[in-house]
Parts: sequence; structure tokens; C-alpha cells
Amino acid sequence: MSNKINKKVCTISYGCQMSERDAETLTAISEKNGYARTENPEQADLIIINTCCVRESAENKIIGKIGQLKKLKEKKTQLKIAVAGCMIQQPGLLEKLQKKAPHVDIWTGTFDHHQFKDLLRTADQGGKASLVSEAACETTEVVPLAEKGKLQTNVNIMYGCDNYCAYCIVPYVRGRERSRPMDVILDEIRTLVENGCRDVTLLGQNVNSYGKKDGFAYDFSDLLTEIDKIKGLYRIRFMTSHPKDFSDKLIETVARGEHICEHFHLPFQAGSNQVLTTMNRGYTREYYLERIARILEIVPEARLTTDIIVGFPGETEEDFELTLDLVNTVPFNQAFTFMFSKRSGTAGALLQDQVPLDIKKNRLQRLMALQNSQSLSWRQKMIGNRYEILVEGPSKSDPKYLTGRTRGNEIVVFESREDLVGSLVSVTIRSANSWTLFGELSEP
Ligand code: SAM
Ligand code: SF4
Repeated sequence: MSNKINKKVCTISYGCQMSERDAETLTAISEKNGYARTENPEQADLIIINTCCVRESAENKIIGKIGQLKKLKEKKTQLKIAVAGCMIQQPGLLEKLQKKAPHVDIWTGTFDHHQFKDLLRTADQGGKASLVSEAACETTEVVPLAEKGKLQTNVNIMYGCDNYCAYCIVPYVRGRERSRPMDVILDEIRTLVENGCRDVTLLGQNVNSYGKKDGFAYDFSDLLTEIDKIKGLYRIRFMTSHPKDFSDKLIETVARGEHICEHFHLPFQAGSNQVLTTMNRGYTREYYLERIARILEIVPEARLTTDIIVGFPGETEEDFELTLDLVNTVPFNQAFTFMFSKRSGTAGALLQDQVPLDIKKNRLQRLMALQNSQSLSWRQKMIGNRYEILVEGPSKSDPKYLTGRTRGNEIVVFESREDLVGSLVSVTIRSANSWTLFGELSEP
């Protein structure tokens, strides 16, 4: 394979942080094999589409995108197109897509990153390559070259999921739960920090069950405590916490930690016990509220975020009102809200009582309106206070301003003449909308 650096790779990724992390791995492998990064698909010699299948809407968008690339390939015959990610792990879908999109050169699944270099070589030599393995039991991580100066990075601490929530396709396309050993994770983070990373997000579908199935002698809280000792790392975040495994030990570890951010992403999905039971979530509304109360007792400054699904099969208006009530009760800083999407192969797809689309849309709008006003009042309460901000770079809308994040992951925009990127500064909040805070640099 040619190592000339005049070829370019453009990666387009869909879906969650885990998917983003996969995209980063594939991009870094391409980079190591002669492709420089570009964000412009028109300039690329290799386009990687990293897919997601958690909801049907994303899947439709991706299929459309793959179709559009046909024209680009006709114009630029040397262009290589790779399709990766969890969408093609679904039974039967790969074959269908291969027929529909013969212009794609590489098909690669979520378990085959370690082979991507070989697939790329085949495509570079003019061949077609396809490798989509069905399942993985080991945790061989292809650690990408840590991009120099990249401040924020996602780090996988575990893969897959054993929870089988009735709506969710993840266990089917990402395999059974398996955790990476602590020493391997610590080594990866130390290397990232040497290359300029200051903020890591530890990723797992249920970080609170880290190591349990693999019989590790340490748990997620112990892992956090060790990561907190790494010199040069300013911030440690983690997601996702499943309420059913959420322990007091974890809350206490966050309270004690120096660099562990006081941010808990704790999806509740539905406010009604009847819906939670059908969803197979393994907790009740009362238990969830008790866990929130415990967080706020031990970490009063905690930031709380959540995921919510509306229109799960069988959800009545009364059930939905219990979801609204929960949002009214818990001071969520932000909520990611979704309409239930039927995923083939999951238990939820087989349930009778599907909620009509117009009702799902109406519930989503009501929920979003409520959460937006809660998010705004939460941010308005921050006005006048000072926060520690990790400066990320110039604001996209106006480069005269800098942008950064609080420990609670809120975005803050402020004016500065100095280049403060990568440093921790103190900013006083002056105004807010539902998504962004605007502030002024304060004296340390
Ligand atoms: N492991 C995480 C947890 O249990 O909270 C969630 C991972 S999932 C990729 C992210 C979110 O997508 C879920 O919390 C859920 O709200 C949403 N989601 C998953 N499957 C869905 C479906 N079929 N329809 C709508 N939303 C869905
Ligand atoms: Fe999906 Fe539930 Fe596993 Fe989260 S815990 S990935 S929602 S099955």
C-alpha cells in the first residue's frame, strides 16, 4: 500500500459516543495507512460511513447517504467507499445493502476493526472487501493513534450489553457484555494524556456492571479512583449508568474524586412502572427517584441528564403523564428524548398495542417543551455564578469568542483575547438559553 500522504479520508459517523469512538478508530487506521483527514467528502479518496441502527430514522438517513455517494463515485472513479458499524450487523441487512449499493468497496462490522487495514489494502488494489463477523468474545481494542492535541477523547471500558431492554437492538449488534482490564485502560489514558488529551469519557452501555461478568477483583468505582490519579488529566466523565446497578459506592467515589466530573447520565426511559416492566428495565419509578435523592444528598452540585422514550407499546396517556411528572420532579439539566422505534428482532417489535405515530409525535413535543423550559431555568439559575471551564477552542459561530465546558458538561461561550485553548479558566455566567451559557472571563 502506498504511504503517500496526498490521499484523504473523510469519515461520516452516526449514532452514539461508542459509534463515534469506532469511527475514530477506523479514521486513525486509515491515517496510519496513508490517508490524511478531511471533513470535505468532495476532497476525499476514501469515505467511511459509520452506521447506527438504534432507531429506524437514523437507518433511513444512512441508506439515503450511501445511495447519494454513487454519483460522487461516478465522478471520481478512484474514490473508495467503506461502510462500517452496527447497522450491517443486523441479520440479512448486509446482503440487501450489498445488492443495492454495488459502488461500496468495503463492508466492515463492529467486531472487525483489527482487520480494517487489510480490507483497505484490498480496496486500494482495486478489489472489493467484506468482513462482518457475527460475534466477539475477546476485548482486543484497536487503539487509534491518539490525535496530537485532541483535548477530549472517548475511551471504551467495556463492550456489548446483556440487559436486553425490550426496545433495544444493541445486545444483538454489539454482542454480549465484556470488560477491558484496568491496566490496559490506564495505559491507553496515559498515552492520550501524553498527546495532549485533558478530558476523557469512559464508555460502556452499563458502566456500573464493569468487570462483574469477567470476574475482575475491582469494580467501576475502583477503576475511576485509579484513573483519577493520572497526572495531567483534568476531567473524567462516564456514560451510561444503568439505574438498576447504580451503587452508593459510585456516588461516594464521584464526591471524593478530584477530576471526576459530578455529572450523572442516568436514563430512566419511562415514568410508569407498567411501562418499565414491559421494557425489562429492572427497576421501578420509586427506586429511580430514591437513587436520584441519594445522588443529590451526597453530591448536591450534581448535574443530572437522562434518556426518555415515548410511545413504547402499551403506553397510555396516564403512563405518559407519569413520565412528564418525573421530568417535573427531577432537576434534569438535559434529556435526550426519543419516539419508540420498532427494531426487528427485539421483544418490543413483537408487542401488540403499538402506539400510533401521531400520538407518539404529540407526546414527544409535549415532553420536549417541558424539558426545554426546565433546561432553561436550570441554566438561568447559573447566572451570576463562577464556574471552572476547560477551554476547547474558538466558537464556531464567531471565532472572536472561545467555547468550553463546565464540569457538568454545559457549553459556555465567552470572549477572550488570549489563546487559552486546553487550559482551565474561571468564567462568570452572564446569560443563558436552553443550550448555551454566555460568560465573562474572571480573575483566577
Ligand atoms: N445503554 C444505555 C442505557 O441503557 O441507558 C443506552 C444506549 S442506547 C444506544 C441510547 C438510548 O437510545 C437509550 O437510552 C434509549 O433511550 C434510546 N433507544 C434505544 N433503542 C430505542 C428504540 N428502539 N426506540 C427509541 N429509542 C431507543
Ligand atoms: Fe440497550 Fe438496555 Fe443495553 Fe442500554 S442497557 S444498551 S438500552 S439493552
